[in-house]
Amino acid sequence: MFLKQSVLPQNEKESLTMRVGDSFCPGILHAVPAKDGLLIRIRMPGGVLIPQQLEIIAELSDAYADGQIEITSRANLQLRGIKAEDLSQLVQEFESAGCLPSRQHDRVRNIVTSPFAGLAPDEILDSRSFVRELDDRLIADTILANLLPKFNFAIDGGGTWFSRDGDDLALRAVMVNGVPLFHLAIGGALSGFGVGTERALDCLLEAARMCLQISKKLGVPARGRNIVSRPEALTPLLNGLSRFLVHCPEPTSNNSGDTPTGIYSTKRVGFVSVVPSVPLGRLTCQQARGLASIAKEWGGDLRLAPWRGILLSSIPDDSVGLVSAKLKAVNLSLDGKDGYQGVSACAGSDCCDASLANVRRDAVILAAHLSGREPKPGWTVNISGCEKQCAMRTEATAKLVATPNGYNLMINKHFLGSGYSFEAALDAMLTYQAEMPLEVSSCQ
Ligand code: SF4
Repeated sequence: MFLKQSVLPQNEKESLTMRVGDSFCPGILHAVPAKDGLLIRIRMPGGVLIPQQLEIIAELSDAYADGQIEITSRANLQLRGIKAEDLSQLVQEFESAGCLPSRQHDRVRNIVTSPFAGLAPDEILDSRSFVRELDDRLIADTILANLLPKFNFAIDGGGTWFSRDGDDLALRAVMVNGVPLFHLAIGGALSGFGVGTERALDCLLEAARMCLQISKKLGVPARGRNIVSRPEALTPLLNGLSRFLVHCPEPTSNNSGDTPTGIYSTKRVGFVSVVPSVPLGRLTCQQARGLASIAKEWGGDLRLAPWRGILLSSIPDDSVGLVSAKLKAVNLSLDGKDGYQGVSACAGSDCCDASLANVRRDAVILAAHLSGREPKPGWTVNISGCEKQCAMRTEATAKLVATPNGYNLMINKHFLGSGYSFEAALDAMLTYQAEMPLEVSSCQ
């Protein structure tokens, strides 16, 4: 699975030591100071983690962090509230647990796929083997250790419930005359070209190397969006990849934009996937242990989701009642009525010096008002502590951005004004949500 030994010799390992600073993206070896202590991020390629790994991370969070585990929007994990004096021990523990397979690639980590890979009845192919091979080849490649920490690969087998905007390099499966191809997207833009599955990873890795070269030549950050927006960058990239590429129809997206929650059928007869709601993308250690214990008892793996959630992969359908009760015991619900459906908030004033509001508290208040209501298709809320709007989706039904004078409020793409108190914004959001149409959820 994803427990790997370090690929670097000892002397090289020693030269790649821990750093602490606020000018870079976090990793395990790159701790970033925040208001509540140091923050580190743990790579989880493809979002797959085995239950024992989650148990270890819960143990480490209890011992060295704030007792919570955050799921990021690229399906990695992060711990926060770490004391500087504990950092060295924590890093050693992560390395022993196989979470740092290459010190050099600590932050070359973002490979996102559908959490339903290998499970979804409507997928064209199972992306998991591609993800594993991509990760193996990435961490064996010293040139690609220079990719920026936000650089994101996405590999999608073509099923429902997976939609990503703006990934640097993305492959999405399409079926052409009965043969699966991967359509290539760069910086979120569909290229119109595809690659056969057998050469897909050669193409993807070559594209990543070329992104580095072209960006260096042009003096721009090596991100897909910088390539795709400049003909002088895009043309050489596509030319360089021409030996891999064929014309390819554009993939269709059948994602409704909603956050999956509930019970979902799988390709495996008699087994379902179980997707609890994870309020604001944070698991308590007790919840993490509860999830790990369910996965161990019923033998499925755990998948982190880019909607900052988690999925239990293969649960016998006659055990759903028991699993549901175990989830309920750790305050994880399956009915989508906990009020958190579609609600995101950034770290907020408890954790971030830049925050102009206690956005997490406000999100909790909003969820309390929505709790018990039927989930509304398409309902999403972003609440940000400042203009930076870290890790928020680009579009949301309601957007609140804190300013020194109150919230800026946008609903359904209309800017309603600035200087909103949270109470006034709450009224507006609740009224709008109540009037949204109610449709039957696609949950089984
Ligand atoms: S959006 Fe602003 S307040 Fe929120 S975490 Fe980012 S920098 Fe901090």
